[in-house]
Amino acid sequence: MEKRHGLVQDSPYIKPKMIVLHWTAIPTLEQSFDAMNPVHLPGSRSNLGAVSALNVSAQFLVDRDGTIFQQLPDTAFARHVIGLNHSAIGVENVGSAKSPLTKAQLKANEELIRYLTKRYGIEYLIGHYEYKLFIGHELWKESDPNYLTEKTDPGESFMQKIRKRTKDLELKGPPAR
Ligand SMILES: [Zn+2]
Repeated sequence: MEKRHGLVQDSPYIKPKMIVLHWTAIPTLEQSFDAMNPVHLPGSRSNLGAVSALNVSAQFLVDRDGTIFQQLPDTAFARHVIGLNHSAIGVENVGSAKSPLTKAQLKANEELIRYLTKRYGIEYLIGHYEYKLFIGHELWKESDPNYLTEKTDPGESFMQKIRKRTKDLELKGPPAR
């Protein structure tokens, strides 16, 4: 948190202001969990490893049937979105471009978003592919301007559907460009 965000804290907690939705790009729940479970990054993702050895993870993981698993406490720091991890709760969904997210996952994400918004006063809801629009925003905290990756998850159609279902919560999307 100190290296990437310039935040010095006694423990790795976050102040949730945002929910970031993802897909794992890994076919099964078990494989997705196994990828996020180790503390350190496996060698195969060395581009990420050069920046930090901390493994990628997210507070929540949603299976294809909509079952929600909690992998970390809501306010524990997790590495899932560049620049915004200090204030973002991550929701990973088992799926990919080839296996788009299911109706059951849509419902589960809606319930989780409603619960977290009520509990923490969440202000923003974004898909991972929208994160770069926060560069220059007051919430953006990344020390290396060249550390950016291309993302497409969790798909534009899923974000359109989830925004429609949670419209009453009046959550903001990314800043307009
Ligand atoms: Zn993602």
